[in-house]
Amino acid sequence: MRRVHCKYVPWGGRRARRGSCSAARWSSVDLSLSDSEARFEREFSEWVRANLRDEWTARRTRLLPADESWAARREWERLLGSGGWLGVSWPVEYGGRGATLMELAIYYEVLAKADAPSLPNSAGQQYIGPTILEVGTAEQQSRYLAPIIQGEEVWYQGFSEPNAGSDLAGLQTRATLDGDEWVLNGQKIWGNSAQYADWGAVLVRTDQEAPKHRGISYLIVDMRSPGITVREIKQINGEAEFNEVFFDDVRVPRDNVLGNVNEGWQVAMRTLAWERGLFTLSVVVRLERQWRQIRGYAQVTRRAGKLLIDVPHIRERLASTYADVQLMRLANLRYLTWYLRGNLPAEETSYMKFYWSETAQNIADLAADIAGPELAAMTESPAWLDDGEWTSDWLASRVITVPGGTVDIQRNIIAERAFGLPRGT
Ligand SMILES: Cc1cc2nc3c(=O)[nH]c(=O)nc-3n(C[C@H](O)[C@H](O)[C@H](O)COP(=O)(O)OP(=O)(O)OC[C@H]3O[C@@H](n4cnc5c(N)ncnc54)[C@H](O)[C@@H]3O)c2cc1C
Repeated sequence: MRRVHCKYVPWGGRRARRGSCSAARWSSVDLSLSDSEARFEREFSEWVRANLRDEWTARRTRLLPADESWAARREWERLLGSGGWLGVSWPVEYGGRGATLMELAIYYEVLAKADAPSLPNSAGQQYIGPTILEVGTAEQQSRYLAPIIQGEEVWYQGFSEPNAGSDLAGLQTRATLDGDEWVLNGQKIWGNSAQYADWGAVLVRTDQEAPKHRGISYLIVDMRSPGITVREIKQINGEAEFNEVFFDDVRVPRDNVLGNVNEGWQVAMRTLAWERGLFTLSVVVRLERQWRQIRGYAQVTRRAGKLLIDVPHIRERLASTYADVQLMRLANLRYLTWYLRGNLPAEETSYMKFYWSETAQNIADLAADIAGPELAAMTESPAWLDDGEWTSDWLASRVITVPGGTVDIQRNIIAERAFGLPRGT
């Protein structure tokens, strides 16, 4: 990860203040790491090399049944936590390292290069924890942040409902006050890892009369409370990563509201901005690796007597997907520069999410087109490519356009807020 200085025109035509960049340096580019960033990279890389066991890598855990994969990845997550390597960018007083965003980008890159697996509590670390840091009370911060950063407690995001996905503000799960407790009733769906979670960040309607965006609150719910039923949703591959969650007279302490009562929509938007945004920094390294594997395959595989790498339309698609990944890297660096200047993730995360999911699908489709039937080969087939990585990447690329708001919704946001186009009817 290298930093681009100074030359920055944020999206939407707003021009950033030039800060300390002199006019003469405004267009210069500095691609080097500072001494402390290089030290951070070295220290974390060495730690990962010494601690990441082969059976915890993405390559290995991908092949395990869901429960075993979860257990292996939790072991790795706890080790990161006890080594002080979770929530690295959180302030030191909350157990973090106070790492800069540049160091956070380096952190993601080191993990991706080492083929570390996805973290089970990514919801807690990457978007709910940062939301608690932003808007939580001192009591909430001291209760919930330490177990996230130590890898001890897992969070689930309870936003979507059967009739409220893209139209999230149409949610109907309701909470009414009864003395010092909220009483929750309703149903959520697509809850990733809800079956393992200790806590839920759950959006509920607390004012039935208010316009739909204004009557929502963001509750912190103990997932072991009586009245909660978690029902797994079986996927086509037999695994169950997602769940329906039913709330039946679930009692939640009155103070477990993140932000203000009836202002949960704004808090939810902060969570979604964190979810769509910085995480894409880690994705570039994975996409580059995927691209190199495809190129390697094309260099040694013949069809109709011709090496695939010599087929003009394959060369063209390799070139265009390579350009996509590099553009994604540069766009990420541009936004990173924006954040380093003290701005919080906002609408530009729609662009990051959009670009990431389109690029991932283009690369996966190229893999499918050149591998043909081999892409569908399953475990133990001699045609199995890179331990099933191609198959799993292709399957994953199908859903990437959906979580955190679909790409269609991101297109709407970009059109309306970045380009000022009129809202669709
Ligand atoms: C891998 C994955 C993980 C997820 N994890 C979670 C989780 O942990 N917690 C959680 O709460 N939810 C989670 N979700 C749910 C996700 O947030 C929703 O699926 C998503 O918001 C879309 O909602 P929906 O499925 O109801 O589709 P719908 O909103 O019904 O959309 C159906 C189609 O219509 C399009 N569409 C809808 N409205 C518009 C519009 N205004 N303009 C243009 N097109 C439109 C959509 O783009 C989509 O193609 C997850 C989903 C996936 C795939």
